[in-house]
Amino acid sequence: MEFRLTPEQQQFRDAVRRFAQKELAAGALERAHAAGYPWDVAKLMAKQGLLGITIPAADGGQGGRLIDAVIAIEEIAAACPRSADVVQAGNFGPIRVLAEYGSASHKTAFLKKLLSGESVISVGMTEPDAGSAATELKTTATPDGKGFRINGSKIFTTHSSYADVILAYVRFGPGVGGIGSVLIEKNAAGVKLGKASSFMSGEEWAQIYFDNVYVPPELVLLGEGGFKKQIAGFNVERIGNTARSLALGRYAYERAREWALQRKQFGRLLCEFQGLQWKFAEMKMKLDAGQLLLYRAAVNADTGFPSAEETAIAKAYCNQAGFEVANEALQVMGGMGYSREALVEYCLARCRGWMIAGGSIEILKNRIAEGIFERSFPQRP
Ligand SMILES: Cc1cc2nc3c(=O)[nH]c(=O)nc-3n(C[C@H](O)[C@H](O)[C@H](O)COP(=O)(O)OP(=O)(O)OC[C@H]3O[C@@H](n4cnc5c(N)ncnc54)[C@H](O)[C@@H]3O)c2cc1C
Repeated sequence: MEFRLTPEQQQFRDAVRRFAQKELAAGALERAHAAGYPWDVAKLMAKQGLLGITIPAADGGQGGRLIDAVIAIEEIAAACPRSADVVQAGNFGPIRVLAEYGSASHKTAFLKKLLSGESVISVGMTEPDAGSAATELKTTATPDGKGFRINGSKIFTTHSSYADVILAYVRFGPGVGGIGSVLIEKNAAGVKLGKASSFMSGEEWAQIYFDNVYVPPELVLLGEGGFKKQIAGFNVERIGNTARSLALGRYAYERAREWALQRKQFGRLLCEFQGLQWKFAEMKMKLDAGQLLLYRAAVNADTGFPSAEETAIAKAYCNQAGFEVANEALQVMGGMGYSREALVEYCLARCRGWMIAGGSIEILKNRIAEGIFERSFPQRP
């Protein structure tokens, strides 16, 4: 067993670190509170080879491993938390599912632009009546000639206002077996966005309505029976979510550590108070433990998809750890931690969201319990 990065991984980490410090660190505060997608960052990352890290070279990616993409997200987040979302979008999200299951024509139509940082893709799974119970989704795909008509709506979709294409989970027939996915271009007739809204982190979202949207046969990604494959790919998204939780927790921890080394009260540095030292010890223990769980899931996935169980354990732990660490870091920094002058409150708000997004902590614990008892526990009455 080896707990160190390989020399190649260290070289890659150092190169990403240099890039992030040079190009991203200075604008981190402004970027975190800016509306819209950081397209300038996406283009820079495309040039640097940080989009499509795990996508095969034949498809325009870098042909790397999942752990390489995790290293990239960690190094980018350490300089600019908001820019870590670009690494997520370009490596972990629906882009990876598209690269895995998409046809040559899907790749020509969408992947090239996604990898060049000119476009972004959303995953539309959640609906008003289908959140944790994702398989209760109601959006239908009804045959029309050779293609399908899509009717329904999606909520909370990340990138909904600026994505060009949505990988939408739809129902071709009844039950779990009836679920598959289609690629819907945002400018297709019948696609409408509802009222703009935002999460507590400031991230924007808007309900997406599909009103009799025509999807030609070539834009079906996974037809009827595709749900399990789709969710296997979604575990990659969860690893990116896990990595960002931990990385933003670590960002907040580093700011608090620096603060405790220079802020004086009662004539002493904050780091000299034992009550605060123990907070730091707890934070460090959580970050280190989370990193081991994250690395286990990512390393074992190698160039494929990560195991559902290892992903669930890593995500549930790191979502909690990231949030708790950011919260304690904010406390250590007092009013400055709570202020928008520092990015600690931003990290806290983002980490809070990841406890819900991509499979809530409770749903992941249900999955972990199934592994423990080696049986399924249907949640329906
Ligand atoms: C920041 C953010 C980004 C998101 N991005 C996307 C996106 O890009 N695409 C997309 O499709 N969706 C996205 N979502 C939606 C997200 O996937 C859902 O919010 C999530 O699945 C939970 O669904 P819900 O909000 O409807 O909560 P509900 O399912 O109504 O759950 C409410 C609460 O009950 C708990 N609960 C539910 N069922 C059980 C159970 N069986 N056992 C124990 N507890 C249970 C949940 O854990 C939660 O705490 C995003 C959400 C957030 C917050």
